Amino acid sequence: MFFCLPGAPGFQSPVVHYTVSLANPASHRVHVRIEIPPGAAQRELQLPVWNALYQVRDFSQYVTWLKATDAHHRPIPSEVIDKSRWRVTDAENGAAIEYEILADQPGPYGAQLNAQHAFFNLAEILMYPVDLRSAPVRLAFSDIPAGWKIGTAMSSIDTHTFSAENYDRLVDTPLEIGTFHEAEFDDSGGHYRILVDADPPDYDLQKITGIVRRIVSAETAWMNDRPFNTYLFIYHFPRTSGGGGMEHAYSTAIDVNARVLADNALALPEVTAHEFFHLWNVKRIRPQSLEPVDYTKENYTRALWFSEGVTNTVQDYMLIRAGILDEKQYLNRLAEHIEQLQRRPAHLTQSAEEASLNAWLEKYPSYASPERSISYYNKGELLGVILDLAMRDASHGTSCLRDLLRWMNREYAQRGKFFADSDSVLQAAEAGTHANLKAFFQNYVAEKVEIPWDEFFKTVGLRLVRSTSVSPDIGFEAARIFDAPPVVISVRTDSAAQRAGLNTGDSILQINGQVASSDFQDKLSALHIGDSFRLRVRSAGVERELQWQVGSREEVELELKDVDNVTRQQKLRRAAWLKGEPEKEASR
Ligand SMILES: [Zn+2]
Repeated sequence: MFFCLPGAPGFQSPVVHYTVSLANPASHRVHVRIEIPPGAAQRELQLPVWNALYQVRDFSQYVTWLKATDAHHRPIPSEVIDKSRWRVTDAENGAAIEYEILADQPGPYGAQLNAQHAFFNLAEILMYPVDLRSAPVRLAFSDIPAGWKIGTAMSSIDTHTFSAENYDRLVDTPLEIGTFHEAEFDDSGGHYRILVDADPPDYDLQKITGIVRRIVSAETAWMNDRPFNTYLFIYHFPRTSGGGGMEHAYSTAIDVNARVLADNALALPEVTAHEFFHLWNVKRIRPQSLEPVDYTKENYTRALWFSEGVTNTVQDYMLIRAGILDEKQYLNRLAEHIEQLQRRPAHLTQSAEEASLNAWLEKYPSYASPERSISYYNKGELLGVILDLAMRDASHGTSCLRDLLRWMNREYAQRGKFFADSDSVLQAAEAGTHANLKAFFQNYVAEKVEIPWDEFFKTVGLRLVRSTSVSPDIGFEAARIFDAPPVVISVRTDSAAQRAGLNTGDSILQINGQVASSDFQDKLSALHIGDSFRLRVRSAGVERELQWQVGSREEVELELKDVDNVTRQQKLRRAAWLKGEPEKEASR
């Protein structure tokens, strides 16, 4: 242990001061002033090229101007040294760097200032002095529009001034600034805050609070851990777009389209359960490949099948434990997710680890083609399920996925260490089962071996039943890139879609008069053969309305059904699996 007397000379770290002015909400112009303490004469400032999404987005494209002054307010030279980095000189006595940046990217992955509110992922608007990335930070807001308040998980000094240990912690803490509504509750010693910025008729805060409470209670109990005192949920329910969530260590920002929120009872619980579980898996149980964050270029990781996919596995287990999803619904979802993977020819050409490395290509619509890629969310979720079943099988029901996550939480998160991608997950699985699981990881994680589903599901008395059916055929494939409108990635030759004039690259704005949002695939799969079908699309800035009739084609459908004569052992195993617990605890 190291003791440092408060106030002892020479022990105080230099502090980087940020002042962010919100004087121009209507034009989205954010004014930033960074004061850096004395140091070297030449100092560099970097604006991250990526944040929130595993995508290079070059936030410097929004910087309109930059200038610097010295400690005596005299101009000092500043120059651009690459697309996202600036250098100032004559800064030995300290300097102030000022710039203006446009912030009008909505959603949990963006930074936005407009007449209604501000929401900031700070890495998208704040540069850091390269020599002081680990120095303590002060952040103050000025010119806050009347009536607006600030909601964030950051430590506050007063209503508009905040502090963080360093730049990395600062930018892991988003802020909502506006006229939001709030709720709070305590659960098992933890304090939870919920903040909603949306049209009041679109949501019921009491109902949301009830759902959140069930989820946090299920997850903290399942992990037997609560590595925080206070946690903040920031929700937006936009009417025109939306759908997505972003995890942080002490908070999450979640968007659900207002209509999806009204129509789909699972939409809010599933994203909430997912983002909350990330506070362990990816924020604290964190792959070494994502650390330290390289703000200048991609961090390549093979672990997203685990960090994202297995978070999906746990998300659904937690919805069952919270009483939000029942067994039948769960098994139907699971079969659908297997169908999703099996229908993509790329499941035989791209492994879960390769999909993870290639995450950085997801901003390109053509990468979403079923021939090109699989989803590490989708395959990772399924790997989580069959790894759970394999662990139960290898340990005669005494060990399971829960133990793997608790083991990684102890060995890595609680010791402040990062894990070595899939190798550490294998080690954790073997630690719990005392079995050799290398072939599992080699075949299904590193390679593209076809998964023998029934080998795993028979241990819980289930099998996959295939049937072919004549299904509706809309004639095209579309993919939604993050929270943007879906984009057409292929149009089948000689289909009605092609004859109607649909083209690859068209953005889909509306389906039968309704906004195409996160549920657009559900909307498309709800269509019947012969239905008349209207699409509002935009291509090259021009909006068009297209109409045709839904055709038909043969398709394989999967269902998870009981094997003949389910044994008592299979029943016990299934009950324990769906509780997410080892058999002894589940039967208590
Ligand atoms: Zn996630």
